[in-house]
Amino acid sequence: MSSPHGGKESGFAVLRLLADGKLHSGEKLAGQLGISRAAVWKQVGRLKTLGLQIDAIRSAGYRLRDPIELLDRDEISRLMDKSTHASLERLDSFMVLESTNSALFKGPRPMPGKLAVCLAEFQSGGRGRRGRSWLAPLGGGLCLSTSWVFAAQPDDLAALGLAAGVVARRVLARETGLPIRIKWPNDLLVVNRKLGGILVEISAESHGPCFVVIGIGINVSATPKLPKVAGSWAGGAIDLAAVLGEAPPSRNALAAGLIDGLAQLLEGYATSGFAAYHAEFADADYLYGRCVDVDGAGVGISGRAMGIGPDGVLLVEAGDGVAKVVAGDISVRPSS
Ligand code: ATP
Repeated sequence: MSSPHGGKESGFAVLRLLADGKLHSGEKLAGQLGISRAAVWKQVGRLKTLGLQIDAIRSAGYRLRDPIELLDRDEISRLMDKSTHASLERLDSFMVLESTNSALFKGPRPMPGKLAVCLAEFQSGGRGRRGRSWLAPLGGGLCLSTSWVFAAQPDDLAALGLAAGVVARRVLARETGLPIRIKWPNDLLVVNRKLGGILVEISAESHGPCFVVIGIGINVSATPKLPKVAGSWAGGAIDLAAVLGEAPPSRNALAAGLIDGLAQLLEGYATSGFAAYHAEFADADYLYGRCVDVDGAGVGISGRAMGIGPDGVLLVEAGDGVAKVVAGDISVRPSS
């Protein structure tokens, strides 16, 4: 795990020892880390506030209820394709960060043709679209962002997030066998519940370079609080462990697969655009054929979703014609 924030990561030494889910005595933990038992207790308290369930067993010690496979930068690198290494400029992994998208958006831009990647075990200010929050307990989700600079704005820029959804779907299908559906424009669903989301942020100058950050959040495991957060979804949120009914796939393998897929997407997007992803999106299109209400950005349409156009716009049959809905500050809800 890289520690670009130096000391800030050191408060998580206890977690590294508890991650195996076994019982560890407070005294032993203190001895191994060269800190006091009170300092161990303080770190455990902080981990609990970040969403971890840790049992404190009198005169025995502490035990993490569900073991965690912590993100490991070296392991992710090892699992990545050779071709991705050639385009990777940096790969940082943090214990706690405000938001992986914000870190890349505010941070140094990668060289054109190079990829920057940021991961975090916990986001203190994780974001979805339209200023909404993205919540996941420490180690229970995958919070991964990548940044890239296009020399000029690609034609299908508005559909980049849809293509990223297809990338996530491919990786999840390979790692779990689950059939993932995508709710236009950015939600990843399984068994009609929200498993993840995509957030694309763009800074572009007309006739100049175009800087993009693609963030992917996926619920992996240990997420008892999730049903409460997925406000607009009747069925609530879901995580991979719950839907699989068994240990979820390795988060490091998922991260490596997503980085490979996003590198491939970003390298080819200026030339091949959304066409290479359109058919798979159509195959995964959750809204197709459903009655929907579209709200936001001055748009108010009710009709039947008829799939997506070649440029990624949502086609909605309403009244006397077919409306083209462009992603952005738009909310689409199934109305039946
Ligand atoms: P919607 O799913 O309502 O269409 P959206 O696409 O506008 O949402 P997103 O950017 O996907 O919004 O994500 C933000 C929303 O997702 C939050 O308002 C919350 O309801 C929900 N949410 C937050 N964290 C999670 C999570 N870990 N899993 C599933 N849903 C979440």
